[in-house]
Amino acid sequence: MRRALVTGGSGGIGGAICRRLAAAGHHVIVHASRSRARTDAIVGEIVAAGGSGEAVAFDVTDRVATAAALAALVDKGAIQILVNNAGIHADAVFPGMSGEQWDSVVDVSLNGFFNVTQPLTLPMIRTRWGRIITISSVAGITGNRGQVNYSAAKGALHAASKALALELASRGITVNAVAPGIIATGMSAGAFDAAAIQTLVPMRRAGRPEEVADLVAFLASDQAGYISGQVIAINGGMI
Ligand code: NDP
Repeated sequence: MRRALVTGGSGGIGGAICRRLAAAGHHVIVHASRSRARTDAIVGEIVAAGGSGEAVAFDVTDRVATAAALAALVDKGAIQILVNNAGIHADAVFPGMSGEQWDSVVDVSLNGFFNVTQPLTLPMIRTRWGRIITISSVAGITGNRGQVNYSAAKGALHAASKALALELASRGITVNAVAPGIIATGMSAGAFDAAAIQTLVPMRRAGRPEEVADLVAFLASDQAGYISGQVIAINGGMI
């Protein structure tokens, strides 16, 4: 049984990924920063369905706390599947964007990627098998008005994933990014109404978290061992 960590596992997409990876037979570590009750509930669902899971809480922007939490997890066995999914947005048109809005989004998405991924890399290399999957966004490919910070952070994750894929290719570890379009979760609910979705999405509907989770589960599988350094979009035909 492989050990999988899903950051932001308390959220809409993260929760679906946790359930799907557990259904695939992995031990799933469901992570959040504050939503401890939510992670406990998802672990409860996983166990009730016959799977294996545990909850963990840390702020991915806190490098020291993150390293300590990860060291405790790795003591129990290497994490071979990492899904970097934690993310926030803090939207504003650029002339009105505050430094705090810029920093907070870059801190969670980009610095969080480093803080979580770097300490897990060497233990993963030692096992000669690994999957690092990072949830980015269509905004990181095309850009999006009002999201210069978010687009910058997500686009940087594409470049980071490609560079890390080159470093780890000979070690049996694949590194990919999954770039969703509009997915029906709490994060997107306030941002896009039904009319906007009709206009923006050729398939005229929001994606479901479970559809993203199915893609992540495939990338995490043995069958996906020859796919690395890719940005895979899942967006109903937006681009
Ligand atoms: P949610 O808001 O539902 O979940 C966000 C998750 O990130 C929560 O589990 C939250 O934990 C965690 N998180 C936020 N800040 C931190 C932090 N500082 N440290 C640790 N964890 C943190 O978002 P979604 O499920 O919608 O999105 C998941 C990912 O998918 C994000 O990266 C997002 O950018 C991306 N995405 C989403 C799209 C959408 O339409 N929904 C489209 C494209 C990409 P807590 O609750 O404890 O704060």
